[in-house]
Amino acid sequence: MCFQAKYWTTLWVFVFGYISIIGVSAGAHRLWSHRSYKAKWPMKLILMILQTASYELSIHWWARNHRMHHKYSDTDADPHNPKRGFFFAHIGWFLVEKHPEYIKKLSKVDFTDLEQDPIVAFQKRWYMYLALIFAFILPPLIPYWCWGETLWCAWCANIVRCLLIMHITFSINSSAHRWGTRTYTKSNSSCDNVSVAIVTFGEGWHNYHHAFPWDYRSSEFGNYSISISTAFINLCAFLGMAYDLKAATSDMVKQRITENKSVSKKYKLEEY
Ligand SMILES: [Zn+2]
Ligand SMILES: [Zn+2]
Repeated sequence: MCFQAKYWTTLWVFVFGYISIIGVSAGAHRLWSHRSYKAKWPMKLILMILQTASYELSIHWWARNHRMHHKYSDTDADPHNPKRGFFFAHIGWFLVEKHPEYIKKLSKVDFTDLEQDPIVAFQKRWYMYLALIFAFILPPLIPYWCWGETLWCAWCANIVRCLLIMHITFSINSSAHRWGTRTYTKSNSSCDNVSVAIVTFGEGWHNYHHAFPWDYRSSEFGNYSISISTAFINLCAFLGMAYDLKAATSDMVKQRITENKSVSKKYKLEEY
């Protein structure tokens, strides 16, 4: 293992790590899983490359799991069902075979838009080659070419980047389904979790997201909260690359909070 990476390489792990997370949060999540806005092909191409660099498997695979997570939250058809324990919700689900209930319910969710999207289909078809180039070959070459890092250290730093992204994303499925507040919906285990919001740069407002999954913003506070995915989508909208951005109005949010307050029973996550 390399313990003598240059300062720039350490900085690059975080900077490029969070840049590649945009491919997951603004791409695989808000664009392809939830269709919370529309994007022109150059933006889609950039998001696909960044999502590939994050090495969270294909957009098709990611969005399929995520739609199942929203539709069947906290059941066996939820790929990372939090009721199966913290470890399972965090990474265990990634390591074991899917529950039969997930396979059974898969046909009840529509994924045709993913299959018809040429960029998603292209990435799915050539995923292993694209991942090799954008997640494992090009990223270590940046520190090597730009500031003379050794190839070995650059390689190790890139592995750290991939692991960092993986655990940051997975913390939403585990921590943000266990600890936090449930202001907008008590119908599932999702929580608004400040710690997760900090490490993910704005994706921890998960209770809001489960209440308004079609909202392109990460939270009620939208453009005023620190969220790299919201800022990126806003920038792309300004440049004319993103359009038809969907967002809940303040009246809708207020009504939802009032309705949720009247739900007396607080959701209790009971493991089995
Ligand atoms: Zn969730
Ligand atoms: Zn979602």
